[in-house]
Amino acid sequence: MFGFSLSKLLVLAALIAAVWYGFRWIQRRQQLQQSADPDKVERDADPSSEDLIACSQCGVFVPAHGGRSCDRADCPG
Ligand SMILES: [Zn+2]
Repeated sequence: MFGFSLSKLLVLAALIAAVWYGFRWIQRRQQLQQSADPDKVERDADPSSEDLIACSQCGVFVPAHGGRSCDRADCPG
């Protein structure tokens, strides 16, 4: 009897812990998405992402790395 209820308590505790940590994880994700600094969130989510700019020559959106024209071989610029 005692062993049975103890294992039930352990399962219950594990379930509560799983729900609690899942809830905390979802809350943390929502706080990150609602952050006042979307740029920071984007960089946290994908460190390799950069701001995209339209190439002034061909209009293709390319990562902004200082220059105005893109690195495409067929870019007219
Ligand atoms: Zn271009």
